[in-house]
Amino acid sequence: MRVPFLVIGGGLSGLAAAIRVARFNPNVLLLEKHSRLGGLNSYFYRNKTLYETGLHAITNYAGPKDKRAPLNRLLRQLKLRRSELTFCEQHQSEVVFRGCTSLKFSNDFDLFQTEISNKFPQASEKFQRLLDFLREFDPFILTPFNSAKKFLLNCLEDPLLVDMILCPLMYYGSSHENDMDLSQFAIMFQAIYQEGMFRPRGTIKDFLDFLVAHYFLLGGNLRKSCGVERIIHHKNKAIGVVLVSGEVIECDHLLSTIGRDETMSLLGKEPNTPSADCQRLGFVETIYQVPEKTAAHLPRDKTIIFYNDADQFSYKNPDDYVDFSSGVICFPGNFKGLEPKDLREIRSTHLANFNQWKALSLDTEQYKIQKKAISHRSSQCLEKLIGSFTSNIIYENSFTPVTIERYTSKIEGAIYGNPTKTKDGDLGFTNLFLAGTDQGFLGIIGSMLSGVSIVNQHILPKL
Ligand SMILES: Cc1cc2nc3c(=O)[nH]c(=O)nc-3n(C[C@H](O)[C@H](O)[C@H](O)COP(=O)(O)OP(=O)(O)OC[C@H]3O[C@@H](n4cnc5c(N)ncnc54)[C@H](O)[C@@H]3O)c2cc1C
Repeated sequence: MRVPFLVIGGGLSGLAAAIRVARFNPNVLLLEKHSRLGGLNSYFYRNKTLYETGLHAITNYAGPKDKRAPLNRLLRQLKLRRSELTFCEQHQSEVVFRGCTSLKFSNDFDLFQTEISNKFPQASEKFQRLLDFLREFDPFILTPFNSAKKFLLNCLEDPLLVDMILCPLMYYGSSHENDMDLSQFAIMFQAIYQEGMFRPRGTIKDFLDFLVAHYFLLGGNLRKSCGVERIIHHKNKAIGVVLVSGEVIECDHLLSTIGRDETMSLLGKEPNTPSADCQRLGFVETIYQVPEKTAAHLPRDKTIIFYNDADQFSYKNPDDYVDFSSGVICFPGNFKGLEPKDLREIRSTHLANFNQWKALSLDTEQYKIQKKAISHRSSQCLEKLIGSFTSNIIYENSFTPVTIERYTSKIEGAIYGNPTKTKDGDLGFTNLFLAGTDQGFLGIIGSMLSGVSIVNQHILPKL
């Protein structure tokens, strides 16, 4: 079999890339290893109930009239009609440090500015200068890693404020321990604080179904449960792929969205060995459900809470299974326009050590016991900030970096992939490029924009 365009990976970057190609040529084939699409942003069923993985909130909210906003540009590039989707905005989110200092933010950036002027008056003018800098800064110019933390410390001269600003941006978009690239900082600052967060009204399954229906309408082709085992190449040209089933599909253009080293391994090439100070980051996520009638005291007006309880905020690979000193609490039901349900969902996310979990996973019983223990410990941490709910939990489920590795084939189950990004998508081949997490745009909108921009840059000019 031969196709002109082949995309490996049916996560959001692969789907967006395939839709973008299909707009110009329907002879595109998207290959996904699993029986479901979505990758990190997917869903599963327990007791006939659908649970989402990944989706806390989508960043980059913009109203329909803001034509130049990344969200609307993305919809236009994919030819998706905004009127066919209902977006529910967040109520309000918060960064809470040591249980006392907090910064609230919403989709109205004025709130965040006012919070900073009130709580960090000495840094207020410096913060305005940071905004002036960001207005002029182009984060899309390809540059080597530049520490956002150093830059901010220099600019704001307040380590607590710097850590509080960075905490949500790191949790939602940094593949680097205790830092992030200045360009990535600028992108995430705009995405989270200046534009804000939302979610589609339905489930992630509805959103994925909507994308796939659109892709099919454009004439695109899709094969699920169809893992790529090897990429056939000659010199610096990709010839095609060999599937796990042994079938060979040849192609003219190949786009991989599965990660840089993951792609290198399909090419039979050695991945770069990460240095000790450049580790991949793992996370554990737990979903709790409590009956709404027992949850009246839990926040209704907060969508996401980012917290840190330690003297020093640490965003790094922990030595233990999980680092509970900081984390993210998400209330997926707390978005404007969503009707209350019978069950209230609460999610927690913390940094986790892949190697510890991997070693433990060899012993299924111990792995289960440890998962239960961290789920309990996490709920206790959450209770300090949101009120009690542990005794009312009727369903809970945790996933570890090992779960993420199993379901997405991401090395070490690292959601944000390789700390070193391949910003130009160039893998040293004339017709094989990289999009998605390891290209450098992270999160749902980021990964979709990555798929679109790599197609625009490398594939459309050759059509
Ligand atoms: C717990 C959690 C919470 C998150 N919260 C948010 C959030 O609130 N907001 C937000 O914006 N983002 C969030 N994210 C991040 C977001 O989900 C990801 O950044 C984004 O989905 C990455 O998409 P991707 O297409 O680059 O990669 P992936 O989703 O990893 O897609 C890659 C796909 O390739 C497939 N694949 C791998 N190997 C092969 C192969 N050999 N052959 C064929 N297919 C293959 C995989 O199965 C997968 O489907 C979260 C992620 C997680 C896990």
